[in-house]
Amino acid sequence: MNERSRGHGDIECPLVVENVSKSFRYAGNVIQVLKGVSFSLARGEFVAIMGPSGSGKSTLLHVIAGLTAPDSGRILVDGCETSKLSDYQMTIFRRQRIGVIFQHFNLIPTLTLEENVLLPLLAERTHADKIDNARRIIRDLGLWERRRHRPDALSGGEQQRTAIARTLALDSALILADEPTGNLDSIAGQELCRLLRGLAEQQSRTILIVTHEPSVAIWTDRILILKDGQIVTEFPTGNCDSVRTLAARYEESLQLEEPEGVR
Ligand code: ADP
Ligand code: MG
Repeated sequence: MNERSRGHGDIECPLVVENVSKSFRYAGNVIQVLKGVSFSLARGEFVAIMGPSGSGKSTLLHVIAGLTAPDSGRILVDGCETSKLSDYQMTIFRRQRIGVIFQHFNLIPTLTLEENVLLPLLAERTHADKIDNARRIIRDLGLWERRRHRPDALSGGEQQRTAIARTLALDSALILADEPTGNLDSIAGQELCRLLRGLAEQQSRTILIVTHEPSVAIWTDRILILKDGQIVTEFPTGNCDSVRTLAARYEESLQLEEPEGVR
């Protein structure tokens, strides 16, 4: 059986995480942060990871993005085992295949908002329709009036949305976002959720976000609960008829001591 036809390693799964563990050495101690995490995402699926602070959510996204190497286990993105790539190969692979939205924005201070969003596209001799699409995203994220401003003239929320626009304007099939609504007010947060939902439904982009907000998680298809470095359970949001039900379900799953059967 070759790499691609083996169950979890199916090419139709844009992301497969298999038994991933990761520890850090800190002040002479070894901290086991991820303890055998496994899950996979189907194409066009929009999934949220929820879990208490310190449960390993950011570490998991960093490992998936290839910014940190796992100690053991495998990560497959579109059937490619990224954990086997060199740093240089990973950088190229990430640029082409994975859109990463983290909490630090990394905007270029001397460029305007619009230039920051368009820069990665211009570097690749992009077609006009991608530029139009990028401008549409700037508009959808409520940034159009501010497009000529430089980052220091933007609020924290606007800088965050600019970084999000820059990532979404690239057509990466897999999008990873760590608390993307963290610096946004609730209206901007809901607008971003609507945009991500649309990208998953209309363009079959596969999206994995970390959030602690039930009002954000309700937009996704499925929730994975990470606790002490393990996925203790997961549930489809289709079972939750309101944000309050989802919040209650989340609280309930945090009471679990041992992982339930997780696919
Ligand atoms: P979360 O995003 O769920 O809040 P993190 O993944 O950021 O959790 O962190 C999980 C644990 O790993 C924390 O105890 C944190 O202190 C530790 N940790 C994360 N990154 C490092 C690092 N580079 N060195 C040492 N410890 C780390
Ligand atoms: Mg975090």
